[in-house]
Amino acid sequence: MSDVEYLRSQLSEHPDFPKKGIVFLDIFPILRNPVAFETLITHLVHHLTSHTIPNSTSKKIDVVVGLDARGFLLGPIIALRLGAAFVPVRKKGKLPGQCVSASYEKEYGVDVFEMQAEGIQPGQTVVVVDDLIATGGSAKAAGELVAIQGGKTLEYLFIIELAFLKGSEKLDAPVYSIIQSD
Ligand code: 5GP
Repeated sequence: MSDVEYLRSQLSEHPDFPKKGIVFLDIFPILRNPVAFETLITHLVHHLTSHTIPNSTSKKIDVVVGLDARGFLLGPIIALRLGAAFVPVRKKGKLPGQCVSASYEKEYGVDVFEMQAEGIQPGQTVVVVDDLIATGGSAKAAGELVAIQGGKTLEYLFIIELAFLKGSEKLDAPVYSIIQSD
């Protein structure tokens, strides 16, 4: 069985969560299984270190940005393995000190993401990590926070991509997803 098939087999589906009509894909069974969790992290780190990022074969990754909240479970481990910094993007009002902010559309209304202003130095290379991309709104806002600070996003990384929503088309860099779902 390939890594991709194995990781897909670990996901669980929850119909009508968090509300009726939505089928929620749960990644936590992967984290409960150390073999699956190791497979996931090794797969993503291998992708990032095996020169498969389009147009960026020789670029070192300076910063891994993780999105609130499940991006926090993947990003720091990937950053440590790469010898890169980890920087969180959080919902507005959670981070101390001077922050930069970007808004994004949710199903109902607008939400705001923030990053600490010293998070990224101009010219640094960045990958943005989250568990799943749906509409791409939250990843796009994270990319804007990187750009505001003069960073360069090389790639957006996800375990799962809901490809039919075409979220990747909103983003300013390529998307890598292990599992594509519809
Ligand atoms: P987007 O901004 O791309 O529309 O939504 C992506 C965000 O919603 C991610 O932070 C992701 O964690 C969360 N999300 C939406 N649907 C699901 C789902 O079915 N499973 C998981 N694990 N996360 C989801």
